[in-house]
Amino acid sequence: ILTYLISIIAIGQNHNYQNPKALLKDRINDLLSRMTIEEKVGQMNQFVGLEHIKRNMGNMTEEDLKTNTANAFYPGISINDLEEITKKGLVSSYLHVLTIEDANYLQSLAMKSRLKIPLMFGIDAIHGNSNALDNTVYPTNIGLASSFDTKMAYTIARQTAKEMRAMNMHWTFNPNVEVARDARWGRVGETYGEDPYLVSLMGIETVKGYQQNLDSDQDVLACIKHFVGGSQPINGTNGSPTDLSERTIREVFFPPFKATVEAGAMSLMTAHNELNGIPCHSNEWLMQDVLRDEWGFKGFVVSDWMDIEHLHDLHGTATSLKDAYYQSIMAGMDLHMHGVEWNKLVTELVKEGHIPESRIDTSVYKILEIKFRLGLFEAPYADVDKTMKIRLNPEHRATALDASRNSIILLKNEDILPLKKTYQKIMVTGINANDQNILGDWSAIQKDENVITILEGLKMVAPNVEYTFVDQGWNPQKMDAKKVAEAAEVAKSSDLNIVVAGEYMMRFRWDDKTSGEDKDRSDINLVGLQNELIKKVAASGKPTILILITGRPLSIESVLDDVDVVIQAWEPGMYGGQAIAEIIYGKVNPSAKLPISIPRSSGQIQMIYNHKPSQYFHPYAINSSKPLFPFGFGLSYNNYAYSNLKLTKTEINKNENTTVSIDVTNNGNMEGIEIVQLYIRDKFSQVTRPVKELKDFARVSLKPKETKRLQFTITPDKLMFLDKKLKPIVEAGEFIVMVGSSSLDKDLLKKSIFVKKDNN
Ligand code: BGC
Repeated sequence: ILTYLISIIAIGQNHNYQNPKALLKDRINDLLSRMTIEEKVGQMNQFVGLEHIKRNMGNMTEEDLKTNTANAFYPGISINDLEEITKKGLVSSYLHVLTIEDANYLQSLAMKSRLKIPLMFGIDAIHGNSNALDNTVYPTNIGLASSFDTKMAYTIARQTAKEMRAMNMHWTFNPNVEVARDARWGRVGETYGEDPYLVSLMGIETVKGYQQNLDSDQDVLACIKHFVGGSQPINGTNGSPTDLSERTIREVFFPPFKATVEAGAMSLMTAHNELNGIPCHSNEWLMQDVLRDEWGFKGFVVSDWMDIEHLHDLHGTATSLKDAYYQSIMAGMDLHMHGVEWNKLVTELVKEGHIPESRIDTSVYKILEIKFRLGLFEAPYADVDKTMKIRLNPEHRATALDASRNSIILLKNEDILPLKKTYQKIMVTGINANDQNILGDWSAIQKDENVITILEGLKMVAPNVEYTFVDQGWNPQKMDAKKVAEAAEVAKSSDLNIVVAGEYMMRFRWDDKTSGEDKDRSDINLVGLQNELIKKVAASGKPTILILITGRPLSIESVLDDVDVVIQAWEPGMYGGQAIAEIIYGKVNPSAKLPISIPRSSGQIQMIYNHKPSQYFHPYAINSSKPLFPFGFGLSYNNYAYSNLKLTKTEINKNENTTVSIDVTNNGNMEGIEIVQLYIRDKFSQVTRPVKELKDFARVSLKPKETKRLQFTITPDKLMFLDKKLKPIVEAGEFIVMVGSSSLDKDLLKKSIFVKKDNN
């Protein structure tokens, strides 16, 4: 009550929308009824954060920065102008605001506006709020997916939400629930991999973790993205056309979006690309027919960076910018990321009668609803004194370390790991050996004290070993042959050598990135002199460990036989170095498995485990048709045995469940976690079905020599597919159930279920 009274006094007004006790819908309608068309159109628009703009303006005095109109984002518009627009209440949101001070400052401008509608701050908090300084940095999504740990996905999202709100950030552009089936595409690291089921579960838990009920000051708005198909561009490059059958869209790309909508995701971002000839940003079928009418989405749709503009200046489906805005809004767009022309042109469209005001009201209603639910009207600011009590707190740091341990995949181990005491002299080299690049894409450089690089991790976990570091610089494209030769020389006098190779993905050195958004590759090999480095080091004859820091699968076939150990560590986050060292020295038993197949070459793409039966009917003439490492694969220091696969019923009706059970035994000497996978194949069906599809999985912790019996329920939806008319159906006939340690046939035990014909 006190806060309410204070707020009334502060605002000096007492409208129904300012009454936190009033019903949500009454508050929204009351506010809407007081807004001008200009204010409504402004509520559908967003700007880039001021610091972000300043950084792109070069060296200027503070005064120049404010008044200069040489603005890379908004030519002709000064920061003062943007501030004025904000004070007039003509903008809804800012993105890429990077400090609590900036967020509070911008909010104070919005609080000067006529109706005092608070701003909502959006940011790409993809794996922690890592674009901003002093936040916990977790592994990126591809690493998280490798843990198959959906609870961890929830925990990370929850903690991220708290850290964001502690900075006055309210809206994260995550989870990315695109199904990644092309490793050339640079954004694979932002996704949960190639399997629609795994992606869906990770997405659901992430949404729940961010949003909870969306009604507390510790929740943030999730944004599922990018809708849809951008992960399968025709040539692997970001935003190039996507040409997909409706069957593939519905079988592969839609399920994670539908699942996360059902989990309550309240915002969705459309994709850069055109889909079968219609850009996603003006695609009514996607935004209205499917998303809202079929799935019942209640949130708002946000455009992606400059993509409405691209209807006009790239795709050529709109004759002018104004036409582009018109088409996008009429197809179902609610909020525009980002730009200044929007306000004027969209207001004109309404005043000229092209866009009905009721259409604008529909969007503004949903945007205001989120702002009310997030409590922004009551608490527009975050407390600067309390912020660091929440960010980077010990619990969050511990989660980051744990997530990292669970995300690192052991792909090859010729009896070298865990390392024995005999290796006293170890050389460490490679571009990612001692660099913050382990933080991954969508991360700022963080304070050194908050990051443990791989070299630091090794020294920390095994301090008595003598390490020699041969620095190769951080840039794979600018390696120095002399440094490679030096490493080759040092390797000879070491007991063991570690090469930390991979890609460069940190945003602040945009031009040198080899992975991430707009960093697509026509060849997914190791860049620069990295192959040479690995081969020369391995030629020393000493055991060689290869650690890969990458956002995408890399085809490392040419060096695979040279090395004894391969560790796929993805982008493991702030404690990646410690987690990797703990695995190397056997303090942690590796457990992660591949959420995406690793192809042998770019030419093998599309390389997926859940392909159709005819895909390799005629194998490649010269090279292998098999992946280098398959989906679901990952080694441990134990050997897990599977036995005793049973079904409670082998014959079932179409609407019946059956239960699968299996024994998993740890035959090793270490406690460990095994990721048990259940796949199903529909043997005969009216349309072609994949050779197998992941339908369930479990992470089981097993002590040495322990056996656990696991159960999985097969419900009718796990046998369902889309018939010739794209309607869901369960057909009578045989289904093969496969349970085991990877998607490889040799790793799976099998049993058949028979679905009976209908009685009538
Ligand atoms: C990306 C989005 C991101 C947005 C804002 C775009 O280029 O495609 O994923 O959320 O920028 O940073």
